[in-house]
This record gives sequence, C-alpha cells and structure tokens, in this order.
Amino acid sequence: MADFTRPRIFRPPSESMSYYLPLTSGCSNNTCIFCYYYGSRLQMRDVDEVKQEIDALHLFKTQGIAVPGMDRTVYVLASQWDGRRVFIQDGDALVYPFPKLIEILDYLNERFPDLERIAIYATAQDILRRSVDELRQLKDRKLTILYIGLESGGDQILKDIGKNTNAEEMVAAAQRVEEAGLTLSVMVILGLGGVERSNEHALASADVLSRMDPEYGAALTLTVVPGTPLHDMIERGDFHPVSPFQSLRELRTLIEHLRVTNCFFSSMHASNYLTIRGTLPNDRVSMLARLDQVIQKGDARALRPEGFRGL
Ligand code: SF4
Repeated sequence: MADFTRPRIFRPPSESMSYYLPLTSGCSNNTCIFCYYYGSRLQMRDVDEVKQEIDALHLFKTQGIAVPGMDRTVYVLASQWDGRRVFIQDGDALVYPFPKLIEILDYLNERFPDLERIAIYATAQDILRRSVDELRQLKDRKLTILYIGLESGGDQILKDIGKNTNAEEMVAAAQRVEEAGLTLSVMVILGLGGVERSNEHALASADVLSRMDPEYGAALTLTVVPGTPLHDMIERGDFHPVSPFQSLRELRTLIEHLRVTNCFFSSMHASNYLTIRGTLPNDRVSMLARLDQVIQKGDARALRPEGFRGL
C-alpha cells in the first residue's frame, strides 16, 4: 500500500544479527496499556512492495548495487547483514494474510536459498487462527521460530492490561506450535502486576510458562512509555511500579518455580536491570545464587542504570 510506513525496529536480543523485513506496521491487538503499540493503526504492506525490497536486498548483497528510491534503511541493514537470519516485523506479523505470507516466504527463500531461519512475533490469537498444518507450512519455508508475549500468567492482570487473551489460550497456542514442530520463545514482563500483585504475577507467570514449556523463555522489565494509559495511571497514582530490586525478586520467584523440560531462560533484554541466563532446570541453582548475591547486597551500582534501559 502506498502509505505503508516502515516501523521502528523492536526485536528480541537473539535477532540482533537478522535482517528486519516489515510485512505489517503496528499490532492487531493495540490495546495493551503499557505498550508502544497502544492505539497503533495496523498496516498491511503490499506483497509487491515486500518483493521489491527483497529484490533490492538481493541485488545489493550479490552485486553491491543500490536501487535509486529504495528506503535507505534497507541498505543500512543490508550492509551489516550476514545473510543468515530474517526477522519479520512488526508487533504481531503472523496476522498477515496467510496465503500472502506463504508467497513472500517462498520469494525470500528463492532469492536467498542459504537462509538459516526466519522469525516472527505472534500473539496467541494469531497462532490459534492457524491450523497445525498451516504452521507446518511455515516451518517448511524456514519460518521456524515464533516469539510470543505471555506478559503475565495471571488472567486478571492480562485483562487489566488489555491483552485480550488468557492463560488457557496461551497454553493452547504453545501446544499447537509444538505440535507443528516450530520453536517457541515466550516473554514475561517483570513488574506488570505493580507492587500489589508482584508475587501473584511472578507465581502465575511461572505456572503458565511451565505449562507452555517453551524452548526459550525471556524476562523483560516493565518500561513506562510516555503517552500510554499506564503512564497516565502512574501519574495519577493508580498504578504503583515495583522497584528495580523488587523486579529482581520477581525474576527470582519465576526462576525458582519454573518447571520446564529444557528451556534457555534469560533476562538479556535491554529493559532489564540485571542479565541472568542459563538453561532450566539444569542451571537453576547457579542462576538463583547469582540473583541472591545481587539482591542481598542491595547495591544499585550492580544494576543497569535507568537511562540505559531500552524497550
Ligand atoms: S499484543 Fe504485544 S505488541 Fe500488541 S499491543 Fe499487546 S504487548 Fe504490544
């Protein structure tokens, strides 16, 4: 579509080496009160425009030729790209019409046959809209990893933040992804229950994340975005954010109670005050020991400074 606006790049830390290819802009569930995408207008990019970008990327990577008029971002990204991974934007790009998504994946694979993997953000609703067979069709085209925001395992918290889904749907979506043989990465946001529901949020999130049993799990820390309803609630005194050390205690509770088969769990995202990583259940003891050391010392200098936290 002529008025498609290339979105800002929000991506998981593990996609730092990827080429960022937008198919949508915004998020179909634009009601989460804390999110940058709150109130965003979902835009679907025209297939031909996506193909033109793939062609331009191919021409640049194979012959070093830049097509006049193409968005400069394409070449900034292309010059740093090793040709192995692609991350499809935006907030829940799996909402993109399925036949068109397949057409674009085929085109991408045709132009770049050596791609290792393609990744995408998805909501539980996006996943549940697709059958196991459809999800397998994605896997056949190297779209092998889905990132999904659980945010919280608490149904009341999910309702209060405007997530428009619940824990049961999250678990059902995870089961469908597993049945299709895709890899799932699940994100939880520390601090989302505020001070009053801090412990409840951590325990419920551990419970639901355990039932989802993903290969990857990630903790992010709530970052207040100006202009969002959550920002206004905090200004009015209707939401009480947890302190940095309370967010670490939530992280500790989460790690302590997670019962997963084999999950690489981390707090590597730039929003966190402390980076912890390891494979659960094997590394539970060492991860908790590291957290305890920092929590007991209570020295803020061990934490990422507020100004260095990112979305
Ligand atoms: S579903 Fe995810 S990306 Fe969309 S508004 Fe909610 S938190 Fe943001």
